[in-house]
Amino acid sequence: MNVQAYKDALVRKRDELVGTGGVKPLQASMENNTRQGDMADQATGNNEVHIALKLKATDAKILQAIEEALTRIDKGTYGICRDCGEPIAEARLNAIPWTRVCITCKEKQSS
Ligand SMILES: [Zn+2]
Repeated sequence: MNVQAYKDALVRKRDELVGTGGVKPLQASMENNTRQGDMADQATGNNEVHIALKLKATDAKILQAIEEALTRIDKGTYGICRDCGEPIAEARLNAIPWTRVCITCKEKQSS
């Protein structure tokens, strides 16, 4: 796994979100241990209009998830599912580099 590529993608996405002026990084990194970051996953659904409306509300959550992912990269635990400890599929990381859980655990959460 090319962690550096994910790091670049995360930093780019963070800059993109911060660049909108809607959310400050400080707000995004407020401590919050709930699973709200997984809202970020939902924002990658296929209803684009809905996404556009939801985006602002989820920006802060995505930013927080990005910060956490960057921390995991530094710790060397990036790409490991938070819930089951198994590696997250690279296809999933490519789609959502800031995801915390594998697709199996994600599906368990939403069911
Ligand atoms: Zn898992």
